[in-house]
Amino acid sequence: MDVYKRLQREVIEAGLCTHCGACVGLSNGRFHMYPTPYGPLPRPLTADTTLPEMAYAACPGKGIDYPQAFRDTFGTLPQNWLLGPYRQTYLGYAADEGIRRAGASGGVITRTLLYLLENGRIDGAVVVRMGQPKPWLALPVIATTPAEILAAAQSVYQPVPVNVLLPEMAAFNGRLAYVGLPDQVAALRRLQQLGHEGARKVAYVLGPYVGTNMYLGAIASYLRANDVRSLEEVADLQYRAGEWPGYLQIALRDGRVLRAEKFYYNYLIPFYVTKSSLTTVDFSNELTDISVGDAWHPQYEVQGAGFSVVIGRSAQGDALLTEMQTAGVLHLEPLPVEKALGMHGHMIDFKKRGAFIRLDWRARRGRPVPDYGYRPQRLTRQRKLVELVIAALFGVCGTPWARRLVEFVPLPVIGPLFNRLRLTWKQFSKPVKRQGLRADDYAVMIRREP
Ligand SMILES: Cc1cc2nc3c(=O)[nH]c(=O)nc-3n(C[C@H](O)[C@H](O)[C@H](O)COP(=O)(O)OP(=O)(O)OC[C@H]3O[C@@H](n4cnc5c(N)ncnc54)[C@H](O)[C@@H]3O)c2cc1C
Ligand code: SF4
Repeated sequence: MDVYKRLQREVIEAGLCTHCGACVGLSNGRFHMYPTPYGPLPRPLTADTTLPEMAYAACPGKGIDYPQAFRDTFGTLPQNWLLGPYRQTYLGYAADEGIRRAGASGGVITRTLLYLLENGRIDGAVVVRMGQPKPWLALPVIATTPAEILAAAQSVYQPVPVNVLLPEMAAFNGRLAYVGLPDQVAALRRLQQLGHEGARKVAYVLGPYVGTNMYLGAIASYLRANDVRSLEEVADLQYRAGEWPGYLQIALRDGRVLRAEKFYYNYLIPFYVTKSSLTTVDFSNELTDISVGDAWHPQYEVQGAGFSVVIGRSAQGDALLTEMQTAGVLHLEPLPVEKALGMHGHMIDFKKRGAFIRLDWRARRGRPVPDYGYRPQRLTRQRKLVELVIAALFGVCGTPWARRLVEFVPLPVIGPLFNRLRLTWKQFSKPVKRQGLRADDYAVMIRREP
């Protein structure tokens, strides 16, 4: 069967597309990413729908053989399957206050890209630029100046198909750094293995942790809740404006500015969470050289300013971190791996056990499931019960009437209410979620020895 038909049947129509953009980037202009309420999806532009075999091999929606990818990238399997391969875990932030505050957490990714460019190690960086081609949308770009890298700082909580840039990367004259979400990075690593010209120009791979992402409908819903009828009213949108952890900030054409604290705006997650957030298993961007997340811990949260948890994974990634620390551009202090895991216990559980339970349920309904080449050895009955509650919540909140209803509840009510419910649920489910989630206890079964 031809590649497009396979992708269509096994991935796109099955609701498993992660919106990475790789198949479009490999399509020689025959496909584009078409905006839908369920994120941008690949769609033919011509009658000829030929795609190379590479497009299937690199598609993260059909699954990525992680054990194989770990061996190909790092030459080894992870010592810790919750975190992926690593050399050292750190707490960190950019020494430059401006860069630190411009970033989503501590500005570590932006500072690293700037350092690489300043030192001639790269000539450009694949990043995501918010506000293009419309103020509420974002596009992947190759940034070649410090100003362009800085302009791409912050997190964009909507799917952006970064890998549509593959042709531009292939045509680029020089070495690249690449920032991508875990699925995009997995596709890139596969393409590097397969010898894709653009992918092989990437000398450094960086990426954020990714728990959940949301469809653009979340922004439209938030606007409607504030009596703004159309996205066309948006003049500027920032997902992590202001003091860390920041707030969603939307400037409107009529001069009004809407703001919602990050933890309050999160109430929209169960209503608009992307399907791929529920089917992917990589939280901490395990195939990068360096990955970065928010350092969620009361000790740092009270200080504001911006703190990141930073993982040096490859030898070159960790050496680069040490070099930047010595050069005084990055503040880094070693963070025990258990503490790094503890900052994200619930999200790690959501991916490392929850996702596998959700995939088992899908498979039982006869639906296609991605194959990641490994799975946890044991999933307890209690943990499955917890997942049932989460699935019911997402199921109900994702319905049109629930989405409509929530728009009638003012943010000062729904924001704190959601936050309180979230914290209570976290506390309540903690014993079950943490059971068997200590790094030492999380045993995996590798399906095929690479
Ligand atoms: C969708 C999403 C979900 C996340 N979920 C979590 C979570 O659950 N827990 C957690 O601790 N951290 C999460 N993060 C990571 C966190 O928000 C910060 O990105 C991370 O801490 C890095 O901070 P920084 O200040 O070093 O990055 P910055 O210096 O601000 O640099 C961020 C870089 O990421 C790139 N980028 C931003 N958005 C996207 C995107 N959508 N697609 C591709 N590239 C992008 C930008 O181009 C920029 O280069 C998430 C990020 C995203 C984008
Ligand atoms: S996951 Fe990526 S490669 Fe697979 S169908 Fe979606 S856009 Fe294409």
